[in-house]
Amino acid sequence: MDYRPPFCPNPGCPSHGQSSPLPPNWFRKSGFRPTKVVGLVQRFHCNLCGKGFSRRSFDIDYWTHRTLDYHRIQNLLVAGTGLRQACRFLGVSTNLLANRHARLARQSLVLQARGLSELPLCEPLVFDGFESFAYSQFFPNNLNLLVTADSQFVLGVNAAILRRKGRMTAKQKLRREELEKQWRASPSAIYRSSREMLNWGCHLEFGAYHLPIVIRSDEKSEYSRALKSLTPYGSWMEEGLVDHQRTSSKAERTLTNPLFPVNYLDRQLRKDLAEHVRESVRFARRTEFSLERAMIHLAHHNYFKVFRNRSKDPKMTHAQKAGIDPKSIAQWQVEVFRDRAFGWRQDLEKWATDIWRRAIRVPIHTVTPLPAHLRTA
Ligand SMILES: [Zn+2]
Repeated sequence: MDYRPPFCPNPGCPSHGQSSPLPPNWFRKSGFRPTKVVGLVQRFHCNLCGKGFSRRSFDIDYWTHRTLDYHRIQNLLVAGTGLRQACRFLGVSTNLLANRHARLARQSLVLQARGLSELPLCEPLVFDGFESFAYSQFFPNNLNLLVTADSQFVLGVNAAILRRKGRMTAKQKLRREELEKQWRASPSAIYRSSREMLNWGCHLEFGAYHLPIVIRSDEKSEYSRALKSLTPYGSWMEEGLVDHQRTSSKAERTLTNPLFPVNYLDRQLRKDLAEHVRESVRFARRTEFSLERAMIHLAHHNYFKVFRNRSKDPKMTHAQKAGIDPKSIAQWQVEVFRDRAFGWRQDLEKWATDIWRRAIRVPIHTVTPLPAHLRTA
């Protein structure tokens, strides 16, 4: 079938931001442009604004000079490969791999937005934090994961940067003091970030008419405080419309544990992503990148990984188990590695926009700015 550009990429064009279908004759083909990277590229002319553009504007590889297999990059990342190791294997520089990870993370965010738009939510939710660090152990972080109870479908993830706690030598305490003269993590970071996630979870459940809203978590006091503080959900707890079921985090981590979906993810993140392996030298250097890689992992978990290794249906993904049409999933599995993700065209949740825009960060750790063509959310 003939390729049809989805919209005019000129931000000043009257058609640019339109979500309604454009008239069939809004563009015309206008020859080819030779490139060294992919040969001839189809060009188009917009009949509404008179500007030209090419098919490449809608390609995941927009603005790249080298074509790499994204599926392979995703698989390397979720198979515990260190970044330098992956670079050697692919024969690329660390900068180039970082660029592809940045792209894949945004592709994954759009994929998740599509998944959420077709999800018939009808299960309790499980919520938990996953602790790791980026840059050094003086900058621990906490990833809040919201997962469905039966299908183990990850709904969303946000994060908080924490203050280093636990046992420290006198030298380490002094070092922390020194560092905190420049910047100090908020003491209520876990409470605020979990409150945001729990509020969204309650909205999702209520929006899907799934009452009472059941949230399962461990006994961390921040979670119950956060839930109780929510309007209107906090007051609904007394009426039995919101049920917060708490399980000790020390309980045996078996399949029958109510927190199994998050315990499972915790284990997978710890072993699949090299940066979260305990005592690893491959730890993350920046929070922003670490979150992006977590997002790639979670999208892989939802839409590519089978629900159970020994399940009767070897193609059943977590997304399908959660009730999403397998035809849509099959289509997205192709599109995610092909069609450039435009955040502004999706209904991205706040947590997704935060990851996209790299809003969760340690201000004293600088990162190379995101290229302009990836700043589309
Ligand atoms: Zn136009």
